[in-house]
Amino acid sequence: MKKAIIGGTGVYDIGVGSHAKIVETKYGNVEVDIVNINGEDIVFLARHGKDHSTPPHLINYRANMKALEQLGVKYIYATAAVGSCNENYAPGDVVVVNNFIDFTKLRPVTFFEGGEEPVKHTDMGDPYCRNLRNKFYDAAKIEEVHVKGNAVYICTEGPRFETEYEVKMYKNLGGDVIGMTNVPEVVLAKELGMCYATVGIITNWCTGIKGEITLHDIRGTLSANKEKISKAFLRVFRENLDQESCNCQNAIIKL
Ligand SMILES: [Zn+2]
Repeated sequence: MKKAIIGGTGVYDIGVGSHAKIVETKYGNVEVDIVNINGEDIVFLARHGKDHSTPPHLINYRANMKALEQLGVKYIYATAAVGSCNENYAPGDVVVVNNFIDFTKLRPVTFFEGGEEPVKHTDMGDPYCRNLRNKFYDAAKIEEVHVKGNAVYICTEGPRFETEYEVKMYKNLGGDVIGMTNVPEVVLAKELGMCYATVGIITNWCTGIKGEITLHDIRGTLSANKEKISKAFLRVFRENLDQESCNCQNAIIKL
């Protein structure tokens, strides 16, 4: 199984029949769904668990990504529910994440911790796979997902939302959207040499930007977009991606 979708908040399946599978990793067990699309098995992983029971700061990111690697996954599309601190990206809009700034504090952020795993560093020149990002734009047109543009993702520790003054700071640093999960997910994918891309679904304005955060925004926005986005992911996955060239497999720098 070479291809996987990681569903963020609000995306707990891809709307087709599947069977569950438990993958044991050295970091813990992970439950995934295997979906057969046109004769090919594709892995679906609900980031927070199927019942949304794990908060962002306690997600076992290393187990999740290791499980995908053990299944043979090389290509991953992920969704992320995000707040917007850019006036051009409103609730309901869909963006393609093209970079991140990491403000997480407490999570394990690497597989390379010395000892059994040697010291390695990972190049972040192109954190989100260029090919998968470009291909999503093309597939989104066909599936009628209106992609508003690229977005720099600020990752906070959560689970609380940001203060008004934190949002001002993030905006000044060049952030467009704010979420709590993309780091270390994107980093771990890179450490494993996988191609990884994230599509952001804007569910609310960040604190102090416009109006107030409401749960109504979050639910309505996600259900309107998730099916079309999944279809766009599966459209890309119908292609043979192995011939494409990108730097994702060569990001590890050994000193
Ligand atoms: Zn790649």
